[in-house]
Order: sequence, then C-alpha cells, then structure tokens
Amino acid sequence: MARAGATAVNTALGCLDEAELIDLTRALIRIPSVVRPGEAAATEAAVARHVEAWLTKQGFDLDVQEVAPGRPNVVAWLGEKGSGRSLLLEGHTDVVTEGNPAEWTHPPFGADLVDGRIYGRGAADMKSGLAAAMVAATAIKRSGATLNGRLVVGALVDEEGDMIGAKHLCTTAIGRELDAAIICEPEQNELCLEQRGVVWARVAIRGRMAHGAMPEAGVNPITALGALLQELPALERRLRKLCRKSPHLRPPTVTPTIARSPVQGVEQSNVIPSSARALLDVRLTPGPDEAAVAREIDTACRLAMARCPGTAIEWEPVNGFRLATRVERSEPLVRAMVAGVRQATGRRAVFGGVPGSTDGTILRMQLGIPIVTCGPGHRLIPHQADEYVEVAALVDAAKIYVASALNFLE
Ligand SMILES: [Zn+2]
Repeated sequence: MARAGATAVNTALGCLDEAELIDLTRALIRIPSVVRPGEAAATEAAVARHVEAWLTKQGFDLDVQEVAPGRPNVVAWLGEKGSGRSLLLEGHTDVVTEGNPAEWTHPPFGADLVDGRIYGRGAADMKSGLAAAMVAATAIKRSGATLNGRLVVGALVDEEGDMIGAKHLCTTAIGRELDAAIICEPEQNELCLEQRGVVWARVAIRGRMAHGAMPEAGVNPITALGALLQELPALERRLRKLCRKSPHLRPPTVTPTIARSPVQGVEQSNVIPSSARALLDVRLTPGPDEAAVAREIDTACRLAMARCPGTAIEWEPVNGFRLATRVERSEPLVRAMVAGVRQATGRRAVFGGVPGSTDGTILRMQLGIPIVTCGPGHRLIPHQADEYVEVAALVDAAKIYVASALNFLE
C-alpha cells in the first residue's frame, strides 16, 4: 500500500505553516521574472536568489546551477537516495509577460490578497506551486520524518521558453538519480497523468523570383504556401487517427501560427518572391513516436509540392519534439498521490490532463521517469490579465505534496 504511516503524515501536516506559505507566494510574485532577451537584468536571477535564501534559512542542502548567464536553477534536497527513491517537486521561476498593465485591475506584481485570492503574474503559473513545494518540503523537514530516499525541490528557469532549466537538470547527478517527479503547474490540484505534446514545425518554401506580369517565368512560393495550408485539415485528421483518444485531453490539432512571404527584401506589388515561410503548431496526444509524427508532416509537405511543381518545401522542428506524455495509474507515484490527496484534503483524487507541455515533458522524455502534474490554480488562468490563485487551493496543494511525498518515500 502506497501510504505512509498516518502519524508521519499528520505530524508533517501539522508542521505546515499556512501564513508562511501565503507570505512566500506573495513575495515570489512581487519579484518580476519575465525574461526579456537582450536585457541582462530581465531574467529569473532575482527570484532564484530569493528561493535560495529562503531554503538556505530552512537548513536545506542546496545547489545553484548557472544554466545560462543570469539564469540559475536552484535545487535543494532532503535526505540521501541510498537504496530508496528520489522524488522531485518541480516548479519554474520564469513568468510570461504581464502585457498591458492597464488591462489589470490588480497590479501585475503587487500580489494583492483579496477575498481569498492572490493576484499577480505568476500567481497560478507558477509561483504558488513553487511556494507550495518549498513549504511542503519544509514541513516534512521540520516534522523530523525519516525518508527512505531523497526529496528534491527544483526551481528551474525557462519553462516558458526552451526549457533549458529542465534540460540542464537532466544532465546533473541529482537529476539523473530521480525516480519520479511532481510537476507543480496549475491544474486545479487534479492528478494529471497525461500531457499534450507539441511540435513547432518551421516550414521553408522555395520558389523562383519573377515579374508579376509574367508568372509563367517564375515559381510562386505563396501558391505553395496556400497548398500547404489546404493540406492541414487532412494532416490533423491523420494525426488524430494515429494518436490515442484521451478522456482528459483535447484531440491533436494543427494550427498555422506564422505565414510570411517575401521572407527577405522589400515587399513589391509586381515581384513574385523567391521564398515563403510558415510555422505550424502541432499538438499531440500520447501514441506516436517522433518518426511517425514526422512522416505525417512530410506527407503534407509532399502533397503540397505535388500541387505546385517547381517548389521545394522543407520543414524542421523548432527545439525538437515534445511528445505527449502519459503514465499509468499503477505507478507507485500515482498511488502515493491518490492516497495523498485523500489524507491531505479528505476528498477523492480527481484525474485530469494538461493541455500543453511542461518541464515534465522534458523529464519524462529524457529521464524516462513517471511524472504527475498537479498544482494550485485554474487550468485556464495562466497568461491572462488578473491571474490569480485561490488561497484554499494553494494550501491544499502544499498538503497534497506533503502526504504524497511521504507516501512515495516511505
Ligand atoms: Zn507554468
């Protein structure tokens, strides 16, 4: 049975300080960590320093790993793996842009606490989840529980970008020793065993320049771009056949997000350009591997080329493939969390699915370990104006992490 002694869990839950959790969440929100390329000061550095100082004060062993200039992962741990397991509670320190502050009724970095909600950029995605992980680990530490293994808290950079923080963690000793991870992203505290995957296909189309009055002298890449766009519904249908149906995930989608021609030079009314460019945002559910997905995108390009003789259409994935992930309910981590939700909240676990990819995608693909995404905040609130987290959900998340971690590391 994946359930720690009731005493150990109750003792640790008793060590969880809700006021401290609220204060920490608000402190993290107040430190902006929107990453702006080209601005040396606009990184996760300041919030990472706060995480480091806070965990150091609690007496954790800790490592700060500079992933890129001014972009440190903070990794803290409790206990040694030994012959036991190693569990990661994962959060990211970057947030997306606040957009136009005038569209917010609460200041984006003010961390206003109103009617049981904390407002601000990152309130849900995901300074609340990160704070819950930190406070949960602290409660376990204060309770003096003996762990059969190691509990790791990872505050990683760049989840909203190329996920270099998660990729870096996978190359470190403590990363390679992980056996499972809880991804503390805002999923309404549901246990998400599946995450949709994504491939961003960057398409390059080549034709031949010519005068607009004599189109027969050239090859128009814009016509080929149109042909490719017409192939996308069929591509989507083929991917839907290839991927597994899921009760928790929307089916695969193929969405063009960039279309451009000419790519270089000046736009001129009477010039057929030599090239065009497009980007396809391809979302996946579990099932096919990289090669199978690539084959379908290849086919769409080939069919479009056949309709526009003389053009060349090529594509490549931006930042590789992020395949959909899935873990089975029989995994020890899932069983530990199902019991943990009950112990922590008195309610039955609700299962769900993650609409996009997360750092967990990288951990699952590179380390092969089971991941469960579970954290406070409404699934649809990230990246919106007036982003918020409910304090009750924040506290529940921390409790779920305490009980689940103790169950898994018993
Ligand atoms: Zn996130």
